[in-house]
Amino acid sequence: MSDLPDGVERRTFDGTDRLATRGDPVYGEPTDGEWRAWNPNRSKLGAMLELGMDTGLEGGETVLYLGAASGTTVSHVADFAGPTYAVEFAARPARDLLEAADSRPRLFPLLKDARKPATYAHVVESDVDVVIQDVATRGQARVALENAQFLADDGRLLLAVKARSEDVTREPSAIFDEVRDELADGYEILETRRLDDYHTDHLGIVARPR
Ligand code: SAM
Repeated sequence: MSDLPDGVERRTFDGTDRLATRGDPVYGEPTDGEWRAWNPNRSKLGAMLELGMDTGLEGGETVLYLGAASGTTVSHVADFAGPTYAVEFAARPARDLLEAADSRPRLFPLLKDARKPATYAHVVESDVDVVIQDVATRGQARVALENAQFLADDGRLLLAVKARSEDVTREPSAIFDEVRDELADGYEILETRRLDDYHTDHLGIVARPR
């Protein structure tokens, strides 16, 4: 098991050992004082940490999060990271995301399309430490490549790939091979791991820009 970032701890909730961060609850998760359980079944990044992937996260880093939805995962990230820019293009989940940001001064929701990074390039600082991506739409490798411009040279991409979003008819393993090949245009892949214990037909990828 690799180290957890500062600000993420293993704690016991109702007799069960869980990852947890400190912050206001967002999705009905169990709490214990100021700590809130991080549900890996609701969060690909939570699953990557739970499975011991070496994310390189230490706590306090600047984050660009693509596919924030209603804020389940990005709220945990903003609990332990530094400035956290959360991109989501659907208005409905973005309303909940705004609510999650109310008590998180370092969380900056952006109602933007992750395929059009030029539309938020003026807001997101350059050289972010981490890009976290969970967009679950076709062209997931392309989105990661288009957003590599924001990453510091020694930064990390933490990517969750959903096979069914690329093509429901094909073998997930074939899709994952293609995504890895396409990513190689702009990233060196450091680690990959199937997340099936928590998310069926998903692959977790840790990479750094070339
Ligand atoms: N990451 C979220 C979490 O763990 O809390 C769940 C994300 S959900 C699987 C995928 C989200 O990506 C959806 O809310 C969808 O609207 C968003 N999305 C898909 N394509 C996008 C794009 N091009 N730009 C911004 N958001 C996008």
